[in-house]
Amino acid sequence: MKDPAIEKLLKKEAERQKYSLDLIPSENIVSKEVLRVLGSEFTNKYAEGYPRARYYGGNEYADELEELCRARALAAFRLSPAKWHVNVQPYSGSPANLAVYLGLVPPGEKIMGMQLAMGGHLTHGHTVSATGKFWTAVRYGVDKKTELLDYAALMKLARREKPRLIVAGYTAYPRMIDFRKFRRIADAVHAYLMVDMSHFAGLVAGGAYPTPFDYADIVTTTTHKTLRGPRGAMIFMNRASKIAKRNGVDIAKAVDRAVFPGLQGGPHLNQIAAAAVALREDAAPAFRAYARQIVRNAKALSAELARLGWRLVAGGSDTHLILMDVASQGLSGKEASVRLEKNGIIANMNTIPYDPRPPMDPSGIRLGTPALTTRGMKEKEMKEVARLIDAVLRENRDVRKDVRKLCARFKV
Ligand SMILES: *Cc1c(COP(=O)(O)O)cnc(C)c1O
Repeated sequence: MKDPAIEKLLKKEAERQKYSLDLIPSENIVSKEVLRVLGSEFTNKYAEGYPRARYYGGNEYADELEELCRARALAAFRLSPAKWHVNVQPYSGSPANLAVYLGLVPPGEKIMGMQLAMGGHLTHGHTVSATGKFWTAVRYGVDKKTELLDYAALMKLARREKPRLIVAGYTAYPRMIDFRKFRRIADAVHAYLMVDMSHFAGLVAGGAYPTPFDYADIVTTTTHKTLRGPRGAMIFMNRASKIAKRNGVDIAKAVDRAVFPGLQGGPHLNQIAAAAVALREDAAPAFRAYARQIVRNAKALSAELARLGWRLVAGGSDTHLILMDVASQGLSGKEASVRLEKNGIIANMNTIPYDPRPPMDPSGIRLGTPALTTRGMKEKEMKEVARLIDAVLRENRDVRKDVRKLCARFKV
């Protein structure tokens, strides 16, 4: 490489990833093929528009590529092209969500989503996000006692506020979502049901989480989290949506037009090519085993943490992620994450439901198993990881050597 400064950073970052335990639930480690294609010649090409309707010449292979990526996206979730349309152009999860609102909800009208502090995403209508500035956000949380979704309360809120669109799917909810109940709530007020499966899409593809496709009008997802692809996003639109029909809207056309020309310019073809590679991997039998192992690992990690006396939000996990209440042991989330990082254990601080502490120094840390599972770790290693976390947080022990040793046994 002719750029020593960047080369040095690349090496350092690769080394960091190799010798630290990545417990951030939204991160993963992509295959060599995904990396290779991400750095391919497709990055040189402009392809504004959609297959066979481009604004630039030279797009015969871009058309083929985007169509292949769409077909693989549908196949990964076992969807029929007669029922579902997919857009693979969104640059990332946030613009994908923004595009859905832009396409389906007139500015100023109501969208209903979970509060950030309860586990929702910024793009579900937070005040600092464009989604909360251009639309009126109706915000819901979880039940204070159970820390689970309270569907009766959601129904009441929806009936009172009559949102045009309801979002389900979160960044810090460790349990499963009942999509059928969400459908009933959305139908009661003739709202679109949008499921943002960014976090658990890989589990859906691998059959380790209920599919939202039986109930949703729209499904959005990032491609870089549990799906283990490049950074990017996709939007699935249900051609049979009754709400769209009732509103006189061609849902596929409306959302496609919102992505381009509504929000974006040329698609990142190298990203789309890499997503296509990842989606092929996601449909393979080995990925089913991977998805199941992610959940088994999260269960093993949470069981050991609970055994060691830690309080877990919602009592544990049936997904890939765990919310740990460290304030219950007199620590702050920030302190905990800083202390863990010094030992090579990477986790992020996170609010817990009804957090009495401020968001910049909340009560919890969020843990996830997708990246460690990609490295080949299983239940036995999760117990070890739980004990390392406990040693750092409870006894302030220096476990750097143990972390390095464990990492050395599982290649990135
Ligand atoms: C990660 C995430 C997003 C946003 O994705 P970016 O690629 O970071 O913009 C949106 N919604 C949910 C639920 C997410 O977890």
